[in-house]
Amino acid sequence: MKNKIAQIEERINRAKKILIISHISPDGDSIGSILGFGFGIRKKYSNKIIDIAVADMISTRYSFLELQEIYYTKSTEKYDLVFVLDCGDIKRAGMEIEESKIINIDHHITNTEYGNIAIVNPKASSTSEIIMEILKYMNIEIDKVMAESLYTGITTDTGSFKYSNTTATTHRLVAELIETGIDINKISTALYQNRSFKTIELMKEAIENMEVFFDRKIVFLEITESMLKRCNATAKDSDMLVEFLRDILGVEISITTKPMEDEIKVSMRSKLYADVSKIAKKFGGGGHIQAAGFTSSIELDELKKLLIEESKKEIKK
Ligand code: AMP
Ligand code: MN
Ligand code: MN
Repeated sequence: MKNKIAQIEERINRAKKILIISHISPDGDSIGSILGFGFGIRKKYSNKIIDIAVADMISTRYSFLELQEIYYTKSTEKYDLVFVLDCGDIKRAGMEIEESKIINIDHHITNTEYGNIAIVNPKASSTSEIIMEILKYMNIEIDKVMAESLYTGITTDTGSFKYSNTTATTHRLVAELIETGIDINKISTALYQNRSFKTIELMKEAIENMEVFFDRKIVFLEITESMLKRCNATAKDSDMLVEFLRDILGVEISITTKPMEDEIKVSMRSKLYADVSKIAKKFGGGGHIQAAGFTSSIELDELKKLLIEESKKEIKK
């Protein structure tokens, strides 16, 4: 890692314009890591142009962070160096980037190690956690604003420190973030205790329409356009349903599908032991052991059958 960070610093020194991005459909770790890293290197390299961007809409869930610092772009031509954070597959960056310009920093077990330099640590809870270690190597002090972002990345990717990716290191690093004076109750309230009535309506639809398989260990929900319409919701609003269903007693794997342009977007979550990234990989997607996804053009009934079959293989009898 030390060696790679020296190489990264050398690339930063040679660059004039630097871009920091994450994956499309950005989550808390995307936003948290790009802001935390962006603010950090802006402090050390104040003579460089350092832009932070994503090629997608950002959920209002993160509006307590410095979102005005993130601009929308799909173009990377003017940059000499592009940091791609939390992005397991370069296809999810949502923009074309010359391979030689890319520095890939991520924690997805399915990361393809693309780019000129890749720091991939599947043992890290989140990319934000890796960013914290990198900032330390670079002797960049983490201030309160950076800490809010990085804390958001870590708490969202660990399911508020519930998932098995939460380690002693995670807690030690988080302790340092808390010591900067951030208000974790304010962050938790913004992230987790702000469910809209629209979301509650969606949960009601989920309960009414979910299907259970394999002794209730697998739950499947097809999220339909009409369901979203009834709740006056967008597909984005329904992102949390897969976790809501996974949290039911006895459920090991939850699966949701939703229409996305001409394709179907599949989200999968597991609770104790099933590896959903293995399943997602078979369909051309990826992710983590307990959270994975992909998009598919397979027709829904067929896709559902295949997903249930693959999920059963991951379930212990
Ligand atoms: P989601 O269900 O969209 O929240 O995704 C769960 C996890 O799977 C995230 O860590 C994503 O990075 C990963 N993931 C989702 N969709 C894809 C995809 N099409 N290709 C690779 N990884 C994906
Ligand atoms: Mn992510
Ligand atoms: Mn992540």
